[in-house]
Amino acid sequence: MYDLLIKNCCIIDGSGEDPFAGDVAVRKGKIAAVGENLSGAERTIDAAGRVVTPGFIDIHRHADGAAFRPDFGKLELKQGLTTIVSGNCGLSAAPIDGDYRQAVLDYLRPITGALGPETPTASMAEYLAAAESLHPAIHVGMLAGAGTARAAVAGYACEHLNAGQLGQVQARLHDALSEGALGISLGLGYAPECFYTTEELIDALRPFAHGPIPITVHMREEGDGVLEALEEMLTVAETLDLPVEISHLKAMGKRNWNNKVPKALEMLAEARERGVQASCDAYPYTAGSTQLIHILPHDFLVGGTQAITRRLHSPQQRKLLTHRIQTGTDFDNIAGMVGWENILCSTLRQPENQPYQGLSVAEIARRLGKDPFETAYDLLVSEDCEITMIDFIADESDIIRILQDDTAAVISDSTYPTEGQPHPRVYGTFARVIERYVGEQRVLSLPKAVRKMTALPAQRLRLRGKGLLREGWDADLCIFDPAEIHERGSYSEPCRYAEGMDYVLVNGIPAIVEGMFADLGNGEVIRRN
Ligand SMILES: [Zn+2]
Repeated sequence: MYDLLIKNCCIIDGSGEDPFAGDVAVRKGKIAAVGENLSGAERTIDAAGRVVTPGFIDIHRHADGAAFRPDFGKLELKQGLTTIVSGNCGLSAAPIDGDYRQAVLDYLRPITGALGPETPTASMAEYLAAAESLHPAIHVGMLAGAGTARAAVAGYACEHLNAGQLGQVQARLHDALSEGALGISLGLGYAPECFYTTEELIDALRPFAHGPIPITVHMREEGDGVLEALEEMLTVAETLDLPVEISHLKAMGKRNWNNKVPKALEMLAEARERGVQASCDAYPYTAGSTQLIHILPHDFLVGGTQAITRRLHSPQQRKLLTHRIQTGTDFDNIAGMVGWENILCSTLRQPENQPYQGLSVAEIARRLGKDPFETAYDLLVSEDCEITMIDFIADESDIIRILQDDTAAVISDSTYPTEGQPHPRVYGTFARVIERYVGEQRVLSLPKAVRKMTALPAQRLRLRGKGLLREGWDADLCIFDPAEIHERGSYSEPCRYAEGMDYVLVNGIPAIVEGMFADLGNGEVIRRN
């Protein structure tokens, strides 16, 4: 007797192969059988006219704090997600303790939202145990953020670690991994990891050489210098013989569109041919979202938010900075590459700034009758540098190129600021791929799209039993009519659930039934095994 039988399905199993007709039986949280004319179950779902796929997997979210908020999992389930992984871009919420604890929490805030007492951050073990005790609606995993580890040891001011500090960073990563983190994330575009030279980075990761630990990386640059940044990571992967996943591959800035991404995909393919373990993923939007301080040159980030604010008070420093942004190509010069009209301040916390939330820096400057550079600096000062931006940086043809590469996975890079507006990708990424790129633009077949959202990301982080619809694998499943999948959020109104998921099963138990929330609380914490 099965617990649940899904009859008359069009099965898309996550492998990328053609769909096939059949039934799927579920018992004790696992897929018990896949075949024709199965019978004998306590409960039957007729899936005629709909497809059945493995539950979608997002290995790149920043839900470190959001996992502890009420209703966590709902917006994720609505787009078919049954598994998410946080702690990306070097910025994990654990382990954080010691003298720099508050500085690290402040730094993470625009990305993860506030990390209050409900979110234990002292160790990966405590964090994961607390997440588990909440009985999450979906499966949750974590990466060990190498930026967090470094900042917790040496803060944001220290540009070069001494041997003792390096050893402590390595020990923290090692502990987090042994406590269940699924891999290590790097944030070389952010302080303090931007201070690593390539040699120092290789040294920092050396204890993990020739091992199975996946390394994900937000590269040093994603605009003018994206190819050099990729070359650096291929060197790291090759030197240390480690699997490296390039997170959210893109080419920022108009002059880089349609030339850097094709080259990057070529470089990745060539590296794989010589045996380097390198792959990439992308989110399906032309805008990104991160801290506004990410527009600053790396040397300006030294010392953390207080030091940055101090510098921004100085007219002399402002003058220098404006010159760098107007002319600089020696850093990821987002403002210079895309212009102030393409940088939206999506989260502003101070009451006096509320009228400007959601507007571009250019528009805020117009309203204030000020220069946009001075406007950006004034906003950063008044918000203690804690501003989340949505920045229109990429070109859709590049996104399509990456999506069409068989080795590229889909991710969302969802950030969860506590205040203000999130990026629509938080609510919509996985619906958008089906609606826009499979349905409207027809640049991807549904089986290929599903593979990018299931088997491929599962392989990247070695998530056992997940990503394929196979006998004995976890019964995390989606049932839907692809024509009915819709992203409902937009940049102006991002917080709208995606539509069209008829059933979503987590560990064999329906969390969504006929589009309505059902049994929430069957997710698990996934630990490295
Ligand atoms: Zn990132």
